[in-house]
Amino acid sequence: MSAAKPYQIRKAAVLGAGVMGAAIAAHLANVGIPCLLLDIVPPGETKERNILARSGLEKALKAKPAAFYSQRGARLVSIGNIEDDLEQLRGVDWIIEAVVERLDIKQALYSKLESVLKPGTLISSNTSGLPAHLLVEGRSEQFRHNFLITHFFNPVRYMRLLELVPNAETDPAAIAYMQQFGSEILDKGVVLCKDTPNFIANRIGIHGFMSAIQHALSEGYSVSEVDAILGSSMGRPKSAIFRTADLSGLDTLLHVADNLYQNAPQDEQRELFRVPEVLREMVRRNLLGEKTGQGFYKRIKHPGAESTILALNLQTLEYEPQPKVRFDSIGAARTIEDPAQRMLKVLDGEDRASILAGETTADSLIYAARRAEEIAESIVAIDEAMRWGFNFELGSFEVWDALLQQPAILQKVFKDRELPALVQRVQSAGQDTFYITREGQRQYFDFKTGIYQPVPKPAGNVSLSAARSSNKVVRDNGSAALIDLGDGIGCVEFHTKMNSIDEGIIEMLRYAVEEGQKQFRALVIGNEAADFSAGANLLLILMGARQGEWKMLDDAINGLQQANLLLKYSPIPIVAAPAGRVLGGGCEIVLHCSHTRAYAETYMGQVEVGVGLVPAGGGCKELLLRYGADLETQQARKTGGTFTPARRAFEIIALASVSTSAREAQELRFLRKTDTITVNRDVLLRDAKADALKLAEARAAGQWQPAQAKLLLLPGPGARLVLEQQVDNMQLAGKISEHDALVGRHLARVLTGGECSPIVPVSEQQVLDLEREAFLSLCGTEKTQERIQAILMTGKPLRN
Ligand code: NAD
Repeated sequence: MSAAKPYQIRKAAVLGAGVMGAAIAAHLANVGIPCLLLDIVPPGETKERNILARSGLEKALKAKPAAFYSQRGARLVSIGNIEDDLEQLRGVDWIIEAVVERLDIKQALYSKLESVLKPGTLISSNTSGLPAHLLVEGRSEQFRHNFLITHFFNPVRYMRLLELVPNAETDPAAIAYMQQFGSEILDKGVVLCKDTPNFIANRIGIHGFMSAIQHALSEGYSVSEVDAILGSSMGRPKSAIFRTADLSGLDTLLHVADNLYQNAPQDEQRELFRVPEVLREMVRRNLLGEKTGQGFYKRIKHPGAESTILALNLQTLEYEPQPKVRFDSIGAARTIEDPAQRMLKVLDGEDRASILAGETTADSLIYAARRAEEIAESIVAIDEAMRWGFNFELGSFEVWDALLQQPAILQKVFKDRELPALVQRVQSAGQDTFYITREGQRQYFDFKTGIYQPVPKPAGNVSLSAARSSNKVVRDNGSAALIDLGDGIGCVEFHTKMNSIDEGIIEMLRYAVEEGQKQFRALVIGNEAADFSAGANLLLILMGARQGEWKMLDDAINGLQQANLLLKYSPIPIVAAPAGRVLGGGCEIVLHCSHTRAYAETYMGQVEVGVGLVPAGGGCKELLLRYGADLETQQARKTGGTFTPARRAFEIIALASVSTSAREAQELRFLRKTDTITVNRDVLLRDAKADALKLAEARAAGQWQPAQAKLLLLPGPGARLVLEQQVDNMQLAGKISEHDALVGRHLARVLTGGECSPIVPVSEQQVLDLEREAFLSLCGTEKTQERIQAILMTGKPLRN
């Protein structure tokens, strides 16, 4: 152990292989940390002492959404039990306890761990709300020094929030280390909490839940009404209150409420946490939500038809069909994009929805403002906890700001309630809002000093919004911008709706390569949106097809193909920085870049067949090359002949395979082995810029050359017949429709090289011509047009 680095996590152990423990172990494996997963030996079990840990791991492997980035990750998780394998804990750097939420059980386990702790071993609990000072009662000084709470949210891989709660004696170096490890390595939004019951997110969140239920019960709102009112219109997930409760499990929620009732006797809202009898009765009847198949909602399956969802009547505890819920205020707000404006629209209404939204918002905001100093280090911590822990679009103080700027609505919502002291302090500080922007920098009201302080950002972070506000935009055409990131690196940022590829984006890609190379040493293609790109703009394709504008469509597709070739053969390096969904045309752009720096959560795929098309921006061609269809590889006979690349690319595109992570994108070869992965979304552009700089330097030193055009060797019509036979068999077996089969035959033709001879190489342009031909031909079919229309209108694929 060096003085500068007292902690370093290279190997970890998780105790408790339940829902959370197994998922935490999976996530550690995701980031390359070997992990030992231990559970108890079930009483009376003689044969398989590790059965609980094994079944926890198996469940994590089957979890949906996937807990592992890739099934291969499970190799890093080994299993055992706490009776036989305790000694193995001496070899780990971090022990995470995720056993049942019982203080006595946790304390008894900790006493057993004393003997295996080394000075540098971190030990943490995943408790949902038990205070740290109670957990470490009776423990040694070293234990208390190395102990803190690391509270992950469910599902672990996907929920951003990680709350850290130190006890009074936790080593400050341990806290600092976990903050950095949590964000940089585990990709979590880390929030430091004070050691108070339920910490931050569950304290404010469960208050909001109980307030909504109390209003629903006393004022007669139904389950469906509450969810229609307090969902996306109020800046919250669509699952709102009751559907969220069903997903979390009512027993878990009541546990959290009870914990608060017991452990926060001073809380002025304590009575709100007293669980209403109807909820206790639901638990008695096992109406716990998803895990017992029924909760506030119940799905009734009808064989061969769509299932129906019934809602619980809170008065009778019977399930009833849900009547259509309609409120004017919700209807008026629904389409407003800005979450603050959307919320204000609801709060400004005159109907029952507006009343419930107003009452619950007032309850929640007052509670957050009164609790802030007791539970958090800053208002930023509370806002981040609510956004990251519950997927709210705005945190409590961001909602306060929206209201503080609209005095009439503020007055309507709070009526004669007194504004909390913290709000009055902000008002008297002369700014009237908790957040302000000063010289392009976002600042927050620091309740400790009464002064506005910059909102902290990750080290070295590259922010496109900050670059925008400091006039670093070289050019913007409405669909995309070229932004100067400094150090000779430019960034192409898409900003269309869902970043769908349109003419403007294509034009900007061309401009960036042709003109940008005069100014920049390398380029990054990336943005700060949740999704890199959802693919081509289907509306334009549908309109072109319906109006028979074949020349226009041909030009548009050719435009994307040629822009992608420019990227591929660019004289300066181009680094793609994909994150989230990277579909269709978005995937094709990434495939053509010199290097990719992907966010770990990258869902990449060529999904064109879903809308009755084939990839036509060079996607078929690039995937063939990724599977070794180039002449050189073929001549070296490394791939088992010309058919193998065609067959493998066919399987991936015909099944519209989408990676569930960047790791899996590498397995599918959408990413190369040499491409790099960043687990923290906040620093993706920073890392992409660093990669771009490295390549620019290699280029300056003569160690990087632009890509050289390659010829392809494709198998030709004989192989096409084999693939077509497979398609026909699938159709005969009723697995695919007639139109699926048509799309499959077009795809087979492109990937096998059309009428080419298996011994005569073809150029990239020849494959691109085949892609375009197939695309246009399919665009002309009624069924493809119906599929595109269905996706545009309903967001769901049509199987016709
Ligand atoms: P769970 O019931 O799914 O799993 C608990 C596991 O602990 C079981 O496999 C059990 O066999 C094991 N166990 C019990 N005593 C043990 C012991 N002495 N040593 C080792 N293993 C033991 O529970 P869970 O939902 O995974 O919750 C685990 C912890 O995480 C709890 O403290 C809970 O409050 C917290 N938590 C849960 C959620 C959630 O949504 N489920 C979210 C955040 C935090």
